[in-house]
Amino acid sequence: MSFSDLGLSDKVLGAIDAAGYKTPTPIQSQAIPHVLARRDVLGIAQTGTGKTAAFVLPMITMLEKGRARARMPRTLILEPTRELAAQVAENFEKYGKNNKLNVALLIGGVSFDDQDAKLIRGVDVLIATPGRLLDHFERGRLLLSGCELLIIDEADRMLDMGFIPDIERIGKLVPFTRQTLFFTATMPAEIQRIADTFLHNPVRVEVAKPATAATTITQLQVATGREDYEKRATLRHLIDGAENFKNAIIFCNRKLEVAALHKSLVKHGYNAVALHGDLDQSARMAALDAFRKGDAKLLIASDVAARGLDIPAVSHVFNFDVPHHPDDYVHRIGRTGRAGLTGTAISLVAPFDTKSVAAIEKLMGTSIPWMGEPVAAAEPGERPNRHGHGERGRGGRSRQPRGNRSPEARPPRDPQPRREEAAAPRTEKPAPVRPREPQPYRERPQRDHVEPDASHLPAFLLRPVNIKA
Ligand code: AMP
Repeated sequence: MSFSDLGLSDKVLGAIDAAGYKTPTPIQSQAIPHVLARRDVLGIAQTGTGKTAAFVLPMITMLEKGRARARMPRTLILEPTRELAAQVAENFEKYGKNNKLNVALLIGGVSFDDQDAKLIRGVDVLIATPGRLLDHFERGRLLLSGCELLIIDEADRMLDMGFIPDIERIGKLVPFTRQTLFFTATMPAEIQRIADTFLHNPVRVEVAKPATAATTITQLQVATGREDYEKRATLRHLIDGAENFKNAIIFCNRKLEVAALHKSLVKHGYNAVALHGDLDQSARMAALDAFRKGDAKLLIASDVAARGLDIPAVSHVFNFDVPHHPDDYVHRIGRTGRAGLTGTAISLVAPFDTKSVAAIEKLMGTSIPWMGEPVAAAEPGERPNRHGHGERGRGGRSRQPRGNRSPEARPPRDPQPRREEAAAPRTEKPAPVRPREPQPYRERPQRDHVEPDASHLPAFLLRPVNIKA
């Protein structure tokens, strides 16, 4: 099947040609004809499948007829995050280059007045995050009664972020007779319920998850100690030893960890940027831009901040924290091995993470091979610390004052005692840290840089690492 069989306009076909696309992806070939036939569509597809073009291309075709009126957008796209909204807007620029479309973005972090000025001029496509949209609506700056097409993108992420009440409210503000396209990567019961309330006799289009479709992802797990400094040292060794490294996304479970890890990697001379909810809009855009252009080789992100972002050709994904939800793991590793490229996803697994890994392996239906020795599961008496990695009572490192956090102040212990080793103390000395070759993506460490004490690392990490092993 080719793009010209789908019913798209000549202008849109011209833009697709200019983008260099030869054939539609499965979600595009299955969804576009139905969208153009004005059917409601339930699309189950993840980012990386070409789902954005699956709704943007037919939208542009349909918008060629008719004109926008002041304060009454003709179509509305709801996105869970600002970055996703901005990314969809970029798609309209790319695919709408032969059309004169007024596209407005209503997202936090952008001046209210500029957005308002655009609304007054009349917009064909309004792309918004739910909160900002309702803000404008409540101020009487926006009428949704002229909206012919509603798109709810990344619905499962909307659910995770608590946006469903807002979405339901917005659903009541757009005309009942509108057409609705509803996209989600997963289909939990709550999403099914919302889909049922929003969609009328929809066509269901489902495409394989990248994780099952892409067999080119090498997945590995590596044992690490529970403390952040141990995990950071393990991560640096993994990065330094990574084969065929081009760039990497490093996932943390919490935004505080994103910020802390970013600071640490930069301090160690790595060219890294971070993406988390506490950054303002321009800082987030700048970080993404630097990563997309290849100026920064490491992007540290939380699931919420990274969800759905179009970041092409990532060679490596590192899970600094094992995600608590197995679905997040699937999303994360889907960032590599895209479009036939090979990729590697490595998870750092501390003693308290073994349950989460088991849940991931169950969902994926495969077991993830270990690089080196497996981690010893946490003892039943141990309780997780605030990161969920466990600590041993009040003396835990995470409670020590900051001033004590020099390498010398570290407790002299093996961070990952394995059961057999606990009985028989290690006699073998850890191998010396291998000399670091200059890395193209790593700048010189700062002058006050202290080489971390690597004695707590498992021996195999101190040798050159073959991640394909
Ligand atoms: P998405 O799933 O919408 O995030 O799209 C993932 C990436 O695939 C984007 O970089 C698109 O530019 C690209 N893409 C979308 N459709 C096609 C296609 N038919 N052929 C090649 N690349 C595509």
